[in-house]
Amino acid sequence: MPELPEVETVRVGLERHVVGRTVADVQVLHPRVVRRDLAGPAGFAAAMAGRTVKRAERRGKYLWLALDDDEALLAHLGMSGQLLVGDPDRPLSPHVRARFTFTDGGPDLRFTDQRTFGHMCFVPDGAELPGPIAHIAPDPFEPSFDPAALARRLRQRHTGVKRALLDQSLISGVGNIYADEALWRAGLHWARPTETLNGPEVSRLLAAVREVLGEALTAGGTSFDSLYVDVNGESGYFDRSLAVYGREGLPCPKCGAPVRRDPFMNRSAYSCPQCQPRPRRAHW
Ligand SMILES: [Zn+2]
Repeated sequence: MPELPEVETVRVGLERHVVGRTVADVQVLHPRVVRRDLAGPAGFAAAMAGRTVKRAERRGKYLWLALDDDEALLAHLGMSGQLLVGDPDRPLSPHVRARFTFTDGGPDLRFTDQRTFGHMCFVPDGAELPGPIAHIAPDPFEPSFDPAALARRLRQRHTGVKRALLDQSLISGVGNIYADEALWRAGLHWARPTETLNGPEVSRLLAAVREVLGEALTAGGTSFDSLYVDVNGESGYFDRSLAVYGREGLPCPKCGAPVRRDPFMNRSAYSCPQCQPRPRRAHW
């Protein structure tokens, strides 16, 4: 599933290949891709025709294209969505759900999605921040991200720190993998009560989150130079760089203790029993 680094890779590709161009025509090839657009496939296509793309933006795992009259094209890639830019004459694969052509006759943009969990919609007055995602907190790379506010809100919550990291209304873009890796780097147990975190601990955690996401972003940069806007599979980068996630029983890279796996919200939390001591009071 595409996470923040993969979605950011797509955003950079869109910035390079789509910004500044004007949409000529939109074909919706599967109605499900615009299921959240109240105007339906024909209304969506009509709204998009003639729009010029001003910017490519992202918040968490959502992407949007800011359009010329303060509108936005909002997209979520779901489980398997891809936004691909290429020769407009190439064959149409069966998984293409929507196709955008441009007035310059150059490369087209295709939303392909095998599992059709992804979606797009046209949002009037949404260029700055589309209404449907206004409740999602900024991610740590956005200029509007406020570390002091996050620290304050963390200490007000009575929850475990991993739950807090996954709460998209507090901080966006951190998934299960990044949460475990960042907590390990910061030396904090995942069930540590947020109200007991002191200032230096919050700073250390935030630095670790940025570091993990930043490294993943760098790894996502490999496909930038071809005319291909893609999401990268998870395996390439994470296989090499994971310290604890998915590594139950293997030695902690810092201290050698076997990595521990605990059940967590129907999934798992991985941690080092030595580097991330279990708190006396814990929010499981
Ligand atoms: Zn360790």
